[in-house]
Amino acid sequence: MESQEFVNENTVFTHQQDGTVDEFHRSYDDAIETVRNKLGETHPLVIDGDAIETEASFTVANPGNLDQRIGEFAAGEAEDVDHAVSVAEETFESWRTASVSERVKIFRRAAELMADQKYELAAVLTLEAGKNRTEAMADIDEGIDFLRFYARELDRHDGYTFDTGEPTPSQHCQNRLEPFGVFGVVGPFNFPFAIFTGMTVGAAITGNTVVTKPASTTPLIAHKVVDILSEAGLPDGVVNLVTGGGRAVGQPLVEHEDVDGIVFTGSREVGRSIQETFFEQAKAGPVIAELGGKNPVIVTENADLEKAVSGVRNGAFGFAGQKCSATSRVYVNEDIIETFTRELVSETEELQILPPEHEDAFVSPVIDENAVERYEKICEGAREDGTVLTGGDVVHSDELPEGRYVQPTVVTDIPHGHELAREEHFLPFVTIHPVSDLDEALTKANDSQYGLCAGLFSEDDAEVETWFDRIESGMCYVNRSQSATTGALVQAQPFGGWKSSGTTSKFAGGYWYLPQFMREQTRTVVGNVGRQ
Ligand code: NDP
Repeated sequence: MESQEFVNENTVFTHQQDGTVDEFHRSYDDAIETVRNKLGETHPLVIDGDAIETEASFTVANPGNLDQRIGEFAAGEAEDVDHAVSVAEETFESWRTASVSERVKIFRRAAELMADQKYELAAVLTLEAGKNRTEAMADIDEGIDFLRFYARELDRHDGYTFDTGEPTPSQHCQNRLEPFGVFGVVGPFNFPFAIFTGMTVGAAITGNTVVTKPASTTPLIAHKVVDILSEAGLPDGVVNLVTGGGRAVGQPLVEHEDVDGIVFTGSREVGRSIQETFFEQAKAGPVIAELGGKNPVIVTENADLEKAVSGVRNGAFGFAGQKCSATSRVYVNEDIIETFTRELVSETEELQILPPEHEDAFVSPVIDENAVERYEKICEGAREDGTVLTGGDVVHSDELPEGRYVQPTVVTDIPHGHELAREEHFLPFVTIHPVSDLDEALTKANDSQYGLCAGLFSEDDAEVETWFDRIESGMCYVNRSQSATTGALVQAQPFGGWKSSGTTSKFAGGYWYLPQFMREQTRTVVGNVGRQ
């Protein structure tokens, strides 16, 4: 099989390998300072390369320091969506016919510009979304990887055009993929660079034109992406940015009759409503949606407990559990559950809750008031129906700026079917459940509408084989102490889910991602007319 080597950006890992972590922190501190000095500006919509002002606007604040204003952003409405879609439609013909090499060159250039600016981009994520420096840089690295990988794949497949030969004498055949037209892109807050960039570029590099809407909590980083694409030479009108609310912008975009396809990452509820809209309108194009998760981890009696504890802790509490891939329920063999839980609680209590830009910060603030309210509600439910072993409270500390900080929370004694153990919470909250053996653990792990990520801790070959064979999950990790269920590298670990965790089961950063943005055409010519 052809070698598929791909070099990931992997900034923090590279500094660790080179012994230059100090340099990473210095560059990061400088970037935070630079970005901080530019906060508070006003940002219009970007349609056809023009700055479009709107009557209404909304303010975004740093979730880790609510006194810090990130900026003032144009609040788009249905008429702005209409404008952006008509520009995208007008631009489609010229962009569709741009050569593969032209398109690839633009996105490769954009990747280099992003790599040059990666510290400032990561600093924006820290201040706007509350990501600690390692998580923020990983988000930026992944976005850069998406650009390079998708450019490589489009190039390698000649824009997905294949000469399919002469099935009978004088019939000359070609099979190819063609773009659909206008794609709507709707992004989440939790990977506001990587996922936003990956979806926007997936649609655009394949020859579609795009109207893109970031989450309302993270519009600044979306502006940075669109600015860089323009600087890299992307023609005006190919990617149009409309900021604003889910109902005010997202919904009219999804419902717009001239939008041919949607690429969405977010909650199952919104994803499903988008699918229904598309079904009702009998659209030709797809809804490519990456949705939620309720990611199980199994710890067998043959596990290395040290690895398991650190994997679960990091998987559950990185970015305050606000990851579709976050570890959220753990099935532990009853013979070792007491030791495992004791160690997990102890390591969880050592986690640092600090402003996200701090060098030692691990636990991030949560994104908005709604998340704080949801946290309070589930912790109250956990106290009523289970046992909260650690955490469970909103953090009020004189040592922290005013922000949305909550404690990482470990809970036991929640019945398997309880909604706390079934629903996605998207918060630093993990439930631990005893099981008698791997069979019971697998049955319970698979008893979920979701199938995004899953982890196993076992040093036993047969258990690993059984687990891989039976686990119903898109992303499957064994003995990963750096995180039981989160973290994926483009190309090596394409990311996506089974069951209700996605609509297409084709993964971002993988080989089958780009073809989803195109439709197939078979061309047959009899004789030599029209053949070069
Ligand atoms: P939401 O579904 O709340 O929002 C996602 C996007 O949809 C936002 O831009 C939002 O806008 C917009 N939106 C909201 N309502 C509508 C609507 N009626 N029509 C169209 N668009 C709408 O998700 P979050 O941003 O809170 O992200 C968290 C969710 O994303 C979790 O469920 C998580 O599991 C999932 N996710 C899945 C991933 C995967 O790869 N499977 C990866 C990352 C996240 P606004 O911000 O203005 O409300």
